[in-house]
Amino acid sequence: MTSAGPRIGIFGGTFDPPHVGHLAAAVNVRHSLGLDLVLLVVANVPWQKVGERPVSPAADRLELVRLAVGDVEGLEVDDREIRRGGDSYTADTVAELLEEDPSSEVFVIVGSDAAAGLPTWERIDEVRARSVIVVVDRPGGTWGPPSGWRTERVEVPRLEISSTDLRARVADGRPLDYLVSPSVVSGIERLGLYRDRR
Ligand code: ATP
Ligand code: MG
Repeated sequence: MTSAGPRIGIFGGTFDPPHVGHLAAAVNVRHSLGLDLVLLVVANVPWQKVGERPVSPAADRLELVRLAVGDVEGLEVDDREIRRGGDSYTADTVAELLEEDPSSEVFVIVGSDAAAGLPTWERIDEVRARSVIVVVDRPGGTWGPPSGWRTERVEVPRLEISSTDLRARVADGRPLDYLVSPSVVSGIERLGLYRDRR
């Protein structure tokens, strides 16, 4: 299926905090699939994580993602889920992008861990009908796409970095350097995040 409009990737996350694993995935997917833009969409309320642990304020996570992305070509920070308020559903984000430009082709980018949870997403049928799912996987990974999905798989050397580990590092006083951008290290300090919790 070809489309004359822009090819837009949606890379959604809690980004609490954003790290180089996220950035490497985003730029490599953009390159491999020739996307015009990858939007880093910061979840307002990551409803599947609520109750598991405290989630940092959306405004703080948005600021960290802005610091992380800086002026990297083809990556853009997107705050529409925060402006929309309430629980964040990718189905709404896909619908909004297609309303803004019906000629666009939308790619929903997920890590292989998040891909396993796709069936639990709100209104996943809508997402499936309107977008291509892109799974970022380490070379040799074994994720098999469920039938009925339009999928792409992009191999990226998997960086074993998670926001969960980074929060624990701050709480323990261990360094974050080289795991997140230098500007994110300072941003986390300035905002006083993760010191007393994970
Ligand atoms: P947490 O540990 O709090 O769950 P996380 O590091 O998994 O945080 P999320 O904000 O939950 O980050 O993830 C956003 C998206 O980024 C998801 O699709 C997830 O699969 C993907 N992702 C997370 N870490 C990596 C990584 N190291 N490499 C590639 N993709 C990643
Ligand atoms: Mg995660």
